[in-house]
Amino acid sequence: MAEGFSGHCLCGAVRFQCDSEPMFQANCHCDDCRRSGGGVYASFAFVDATDLKMVGRTHSFQSLSDTGNTVTRYFCPECGSQIYHQNSKAPSRLGVRVGLIESADWFRPQANVYASRRLPSTPIDPEIKAFDKMRG
Ligand SMILES: [Zn+2]
Ligand SMILES: [Zn+2]
Repeated sequence: MAEGFSGHCLCGAVRFQCDSEPMFQANCHCDDCRRSGGGVYASFAFVDATDLKMVGRTHSFQSLSDTGNTVTRYFCPECGSQIYHQNSKAPSRLGVRVGLIESADWFRPQANVYASRRLPSTPIDPEIKAFDKMRG
């Protein structure tokens, strides 16, 4: 990837720009990520909150993770696209939904988390780490 990335929601009301490369890239197979986005798993590029510039209004929804942390998911109130989430355990780190990023050819997940919850039909790369739950 060049330097950073940009993206937008389905309707274009929410846009974002990140000036740095992701610190971590992963797929999550947990029930909450599945349900919030409607896909059988979710792909994230994790970035520092200070590097992500957002334009447009978002709504958020909070839920508790199985380890008792609060997960806040931000989404476009117009079209419903999931934009990013924040975990109270590490609030300075945001997980941006890779599906919204322009030209995300560089995306290479480094791990599958909650791999124990994945649907049997979802293939995972045996070359990268798979965690039963969150990354260790
Ligand atoms: Zn939208
Ligand atoms: Zn998840």
